Amino acid sequence: MAKVADTEENMKKCICGGCPSYNDCMKEKMQGLFCARGKTDCETVRNGCICGSCPIASENRLEKMYYCQIGAEA
Ligand code: SF4
Ligand code: SF4
Repeated sequence: MAKVADTEENMKKCICGGCPSYNDCMKEKMQGLFCARGKTDCETVRNGCICGSCPIASENRLEKMYYCQIGAEA
């Protein structure tokens, strides 16, 4: 569980945009890669989390979910 690199390359791999918990506020602010960039300042509701299917999660052996709410992997 290494720290996730905050890079454009990783941002492109982030699948948060397809998540049921990803909302218009996050979209407008072009947020994502929460596991590296930290939690959102948008209001959130837990409608499911697809981090488990994300290549960033497998590459970095992430085991948690809802990084948009819990903040970056330390
Ligand atoms: S693990 Fe979750 S927050 Fe991190 S890049 Fe993937 S979908 Fe986004
Ligand atoms: S961190 Fe998880 S819950 Fe939040 S938007 Fe990304 S995939 Fe969805």
